[in-house]
Amino acid sequence: MEKNKVIIIGCGGVGTVVAHKCAQNPDVFHEIVIASRHREKCDAVAKAIGAPNISTDQVDADDVNQLVALFHRHQPKLVINVALPYQDLTIMDACLVCGVNYLDTANYEPRDEAHFEYSWQWAYRERFEKAGLTAILGCGFDPGVTGVYTARAAKHHFKEMHYLDIVDCNAGNHGKAFATNFNPEINIREITQKGRYWQDGQWVQTGALEVHKPLNYPEIGPRESYLMYHEELESLVLNYPTIKRARFWMTFGQEYLTHLRVIQDIGMASIEPINYQGMEIVPLQFLKAVLPNPKELGENYTGKTSIGCRISGIGKDGQPLTYYIYNNCDHHAAYQETGMQAVSYTTGVPAMTGAMMFLKGLWCKPGVHNVEEFDPDPFLDVLNAQGLPWHEQFNVDLEL
Ligand code: NDP
Repeated sequence: MEKNKVIIIGCGGVGTVVAHKCAQNPDVFHEIVIASRHREKCDAVAKAIGAPNISTDQVDADDVNQLVALFHRHQPKLVINVALPYQDLTIMDACLVCGVNYLDTANYEPRDEAHFEYSWQWAYRERFEKAGLTAILGCGFDPGVTGVYTARAAKHHFKEMHYLDIVDCNAGNHGKAFATNFNPEINIREITQKGRYWQDGQWVQTGALEVHKPLNYPEIGPRESYLMYHEELESLVLNYPTIKRARFWMTFGQEYLTHLRVIQDIGMASIEPINYQGMEIVPLQFLKAVLPNPKELGENYTGKTSIGCRISGIGKDGQPLTYYIYNNCDHHAAYQETGMQAVSYTTGVPAMTGAMMFLKGLWCKPGVHNVEEFDPDPFLDVLNAQGLPWHEQFNVDLEL
């Protein structure tokens, strides 16, 4: 039998979880290579996991030639890209050169512009199709599981979905005055953007975090939730054209928002390079260097995340239906299993699950695809068994 060999690129919080979860499933992941800019970080994770089928390597994933050399050395079937969104296109280019399949958790962003859209990666569709290669885009939690939840709703419950609200709550406490739960640079670029949602066939723009309301989260209670733009909205409204309105909400605490406002007001969120003592620095990248590393937040993190989809429309029986599907994930339990907090965990487990779907031939379709284009059922079965069980509620008040 041909061996299932995967390369995980990126060894931050998410990469660490992906490596742990792949190693827990050796019947599917026969060989695992972790490669990142700094090999010593990969070595530390491989050592902590201590499985015989993990090796490490070094790569600068901004450089297609280095990626091609890496793929030639290891001959993987699939690359799981959990580096940064800046590297998506170089990794996809190398996949095409070497005949490697591709999976990621965040859409491409150019470094000099905080702009999120799938067009850059969708432009690879024909080339992946012709090469007989599968690319699975956005296979974390959001994007990722939220798309699969929506696919489940469409497959099993709705004749027509009309209103989709993705709700993302982090009710955890890490005990720091200010920290981001994943890469600070990517996180701050994302949440300081203008809000945007889909309404009646077009995008409606709002000020950054301007629209907000309290929403109730299961086992958590009410949390102030802010309307933001999020990348999965773009593919979901295309793939489910009956959706009249699609929005994304995320909770933030007052402390977090105050710090964020100060960071912006004093210019530290800027991505424009400045000259400092003869050296060019980007303020946001400097800020990242002094903020807590999201990878190290896990130890004292308590509380839960709760992410789900609230959907209303017409049910399969022709009657009006409201539907809520969600997962709650405990930071401490995630830490005990993988050494990482729940935000890394809820991203890494779906990335491993998507990779498993591909390797088992269940999500194998040449071209470039968003997760909702595949069968949600086997994916959701695995999520249940791998630490992210989901729950459904019918005909409840969606509050939206
Ligand atoms: P981290 O910053 O913790 O880790 C990023 C990793 O990528 C680091 O190991 C870093 O290496 C590596 N890296 C960066 N640049 C390069 C490069 N040029 N070549 C090789 N390796 C590189 O981020 P997270 O683990 O928190 O997040 C990883 C990804 O997951 C991000 O793209 C993020 O947007 C995405 N994400 C998706 C979510 C979802 O639900 N869909 C939710 C949360 C995150 P080094 O440490 O050596 O610099």
